Amino acid sequence: MLRSLFFLLVLSLVFSCSKGPSQVDPMIAEAGGHVGAYSSVKFSSDFDPVCKMSLLQGIADTLVLDGKVLGFCTDNCRKRFRAQPSLYGF
Ligand SMILES: [Zn+2]
Repeated sequence: MLRSLFFLLVLSLVFSCSKGPSQVDPMIAEAGGHVGAYSSVKFSSDFDPVCKMSLLQGIADTLVLDGKVLGFCTDNCRKRFRAQPSLYGF
């Protein structure tokens, strides 16, 4: 029940994005999977700072640093980033 409600919520978000102007990057709004759940989130970059993978391929976790929202492809990338943000230019 909860799962289907969440699915409907994501669907309605995607649907409302496709109608009329929106601040969401159309490339992110069109992507499926995890990215859809984050389609209302404004990321400070469109790639994983650790492995440089495009976030359009999927977002497993996020981290907020100095008000910037960062997306990570896996929890492992997020842990590596948290351990030493300076390695990745933060
Ligand atoms: Zn990664």
